[in-house]
Parts: sequence; C-alpha cells; structure tokens
Amino acid sequence: MDIKEKDNKINLLEFSAEDLRTVVERLGMKPYRAAQICRWIYSEGVESFFAMTDISKSDREKLSEAAEIRPPELSERLVSDDETEKHLFALQDGEKVESVLIPDEGRLTLCISSQAGCALGCRFCLTGAGGIRRNLLPHEITGQALVAEAGRPASATAGKGCKITNIVLMGMGEPLLNTENVFEALRRLISPKMFNISPRRITLSTAGIVPGIKALGESGLDVNLAVSINAPNDEIRDRIMPVNKKYPLKALVKALKDYPLAPRRRITVEYVMLKGINDKVEHAAELGRLLRGLRCKINLIPFNEHGGSEFKRPEEASVLAFQERLHSMNYTAFIRESRGADILAACGQLRGFSARKTLTEAPPGV
Ligand code: SAH
Ligand code: SF4
Repeated sequence: MDIKEKDNKINLLEFSAEDLRTVVERLGMKPYRAAQICRWIYSEGVESFFAMTDISKSDREKLSEAAEIRPPELSERLVSDDETEKHLFALQDGEKVESVLIPDEGRLTLCISSQAGCALGCRFCLTGAGGIRRNLLPHEITGQALVAEAGRPASATAGKGCKITNIVLMGMGEPLLNTENVFEALRRLISPKMFNISPRRITLSTAGIVPGIKALGESGLDVNLAVSINAPNDEIRDRIMPVNKKYPLKALVKALKDYPLAPRRRITVEYVMLKGINDKVEHAAELGRLLRGLRCKINLIPFNEHGGSEFKRPEEASVLAFQERLHSMNYTAFIRESRGADILAACGQLRGFSARKTLTEAPPGV
C-alpha cells in the first residue's frame, strides 16, 4: 500500500476498511480509529475530519494534515421531469462518467458506471459508440454512491434519510471486463462497516462475458445477476452485439444455468426491443425456447432512441404481443420503461458528457 507524500494527501476513500486500519496506524493512531472514520464517511456522509467528534482533537489534526476525503468531482447534475437525476463526474485524469439516480416510492436506486466507455460496441448503445477509455477503480465506482447520497436532502420517500436503497451496475461499461475493481467495489457496498447495502438490493448487468459470470458465481458476493440477451438467436445477436461472436448464446445460456443461484432467486434477462429487428412474436417464442430450464424473469426494454443510432422503438402493440407470447410460455416478463430520457439518462443513453451538448443530435421530442 502506498502512503503518499505529505503535501500530496492520502484520499481515504481509496482504501478498504481493512487497509484503512494500516493507514491510520502508519499515521500514528490506534487502529480502531479506522472503524470510526468509516462510520463517519459511509454512514454519516461526513467529508471533514473536524466533524468527527468522537475522534480526539490531536488525531483529527493529524488526519487533516495527511489525509483527505475526496469523492469523484461532480461536474454536472441534471434533473429530469420525472425526478430522475443524472450525475456527470470528472475523474482525476479528466475521464468522464455518469450515474443515474432514480427515486421511486420507498426506494432510491442508483445506476452506476464501472468503466469510462465500453469496449463491446453494441450497435444500439451510445456508450458503446465511443469505445473504451479505461476501467474505473473501486473508489471511483463507490464514490458515485457517496456523491449521490451527499447531494440529496433527507426525504421521507427515500427510506432512512437520503440513503441509497438499491444499486444497479447498468451505467457505462461492462462490469465483468473490470472484475477485480468491480468485485472490490461490491464488497465495499455490501460491507456493514461501509455502505451496508444488502447484496439482494444490488444487481450487476453483463452483456454476457462467460468467464466473468463464472467468476461472479465463485466470488460468493451473492448479488443479483442480470444479462443483456437482447436477441433470440445467434444470427440477430451477432448483428447487434459483437460480443456474441466470442461468447455465443449456447455458451452464455450454459454459463447462466451453471450459475449458483440462491433458493428463490432468479436471473434477470434483459431484452432491448428494436423495431423490425427482434420484436416479432416468433422471436418471443424462440426466446422462450432458448431460455427453457433457466430460472429467470424477463425485462423487456423498448429501445430508447438517440442520435447515435438508426434503430427505432417498436410499436406498443408489438411489445405487448411479445410479452403475451412469453406469458403463454409461463415466463414472468415485465415491460420496463427507462426513465430520464429527457436528459439522456435512460438505458443506453450515457456517454460521459452533458445531455445539453447532445440535444441537437437527439430525436425529436427528447
Ligand atoms: N454493459 C452492461 C451494463 C450496462 S448497459 C450490459 O450491457 O448489460 C445496461 C442495459 O441497457 C443493457 O441491458 C443494454 O442492453 C441496455 N441498453 C443499451 N442501449 C439501450 C437503448 N438505447 N435503449 C434501451 N436499452 C438500452
Ligand atoms: Fe457496453 Fe452494455 Fe452498452 Fe453493450 S450495452 S456497449 S456492453 S455498456
């Protein structure tokens, strides 16, 4: 572990609860101070050492001389008509990422990014269009949650104060191509010493990285798994998701069937519906056959149109007919309308810069 030079302060957010014990010891304090600091940062949302009133004055002075609590810098915050908020962050090296905060009755869900950009280039996704910039570090992932909580006034609808209740890794990037950092971020989100969010309220979404799915299963993290299937066969999937050439549906579905699911839990299958491409009733029947024997529920996401893609949103009637066909095969299938489309915060609309700059490219009505 690197402890940096004095004038270059240590950012305490970079450390796990365990490593923080070593840090405080090296700064000449008792290791139990680490637990107190964690509580102040992660439960109380405190960013100044002087507010940490159960820590002795001399230790608080030592801390503020050598260390700091520096979350990713929030460069812009946009609020949608439907109360969804998009947060744009400028990371230390200038990279940009986004998170989306979605308040709903009794819940506050944060959709976070795991990479700046994405290497997988799905044809319908704005994030994919810009390529991969770099992996996010654990504290850059968890920092999105800290900032979201700090920026929100305590409210009755959001549960205890302004605490985030649910996390979805469905922002920018492919989390299972950044497993080391993402798994560490998940450990911190779950840790009772840190964010203390139940793994049942955390969902990781992948485009179908087979070895990553296996690694997640073996990690014991016990978070929910969502998979962007998006097509009923390899022919269509190859066309819209280049990653399918590497991990075709047969291998992907096998990995999902082998995934160690706790009793009563199900894998979420995401299916972005693209007009004229994958939205016919025959596709629903084919999807049903593909998923047979998999404990899952299906989320149908009508495509969110954006200037970076030629695809169109299907007619509502096709979405309903598709859902009906899945129901007739005894699947649970929901239609998920993404929120925040007016500020380009909906699924697939994140690309790391302000919606204002992209408005000219957005389709009419956005
Ligand atoms: N890389 C991961 C997680 C981020 S994408 C993954 O692909 O699963 C989150 C979801 O948004 C995916 O299910 C993706 O298929 C969907 N999506 C991407 N672009 C979209 C768009 N324009 N409209 C609707 N959903 C979209
Ligand atoms: Fe990457 Fe997911 Fe977008 Fe595909 S849908 S380009 S995997 S972020």
